[in-house]
Amino acid sequence: MSEKEVITVRNLVKNYGDFEAVKGISFSVYEGEIFGLLGPNGAGKSTTLEIMETLRPKTSGEVIIDGFNLDHEADKIKRIIGVQLQSSGFYPSLNLSELIILFGGLYNEPVNVRELLHLVNLEDKAKNQYKELSGGQKQRFSIATTLVNKPRIIFLDEPTTGLDPHARRNLWDLIRDIRSKGTTVIITTHYMDEAEILCDRVAIVDHGKIIALHSPDQLIDDLVATGFERPKEVKKANLEDVFIHLTGRSLRNE
Ligand code: ADP
Ligand code: MG
Repeated sequence: MSEKEVITVRNLVKNYGDFEAVKGISFSVYEGEIFGLLGPNGAGKSTTLEIMETLRPKTSGEVIIDGFNLDHEADKIKRIIGVQLQSSGFYPSLNLSELIILFGGLYNEPVNVRELLHLVNLEDKAKNQYKELSGGQKQRFSIATTLVNKPRIIFLDEPTTGLDPHARRNLWDLIRDIRSKGTTVIITTHYMDEAEILCDRVAIVDHGKIIALHSPDQLIDDLVATGFERPKEVKKANLEDVFIHLTGRSLRNE
């Protein structure tokens, strides 16, 4: 992870009518990190993400993405980011190869379809339609579509919500893989275990405000330093580990 700031958000505010969804948040994201926006439903995570993605107007504040100011360089920002669409964005009658080519066309970029599908482990589904995929495969495919323009930064809004443990771990591997190639990843989640494993730093958002921002390790150490102790001794495995052990993670990838 470098020390170069690829995203700077200062005093971001978003009001829907007279409801304040985002109440003046500030944070920076460094090049090559996996940065998590964590928080309960309604905290303002998606709103913040969609503003950075240039998809939703802000009320006030400043957003700089890779040196470009959202206020007057949104077009330049769009070219260097990858945005995960909701599934409704995919034409039902096209197969995965055709969909990838379609996305490439939107950016006016030649796309290596095989390479992209290989990256998300869906090469053998190239001729299948999106609706024929499992939940985990759908998520991996939608992540592939964020990569067609070779973005410097990708935004993933709750990519693992609703997935079973195998598919979740699979997606974590994919996200780490993408980051290892130099792409900065901004992810929202309400799974704390996921954030702890995946994210270099997290901002905990509640009621439209950032209430903590640090590496998961540091946040945990800070809590322990206050004298906090878990009520029960921590076991070396949890129920999810039992499930994965019993059902054989290596035998299937969904
Ligand atoms: P999160 O992604 O953390 O669950 P959101 O950013 O989606 O939170 O929503 C933050 C708050 O803003 C919620 O209270 C939500 O109901 C409200 N909200 C989101 N979108 C709209 C909208 N288009 N109009 C009015 N209120 C909205
Ligand atoms: Mg959301």
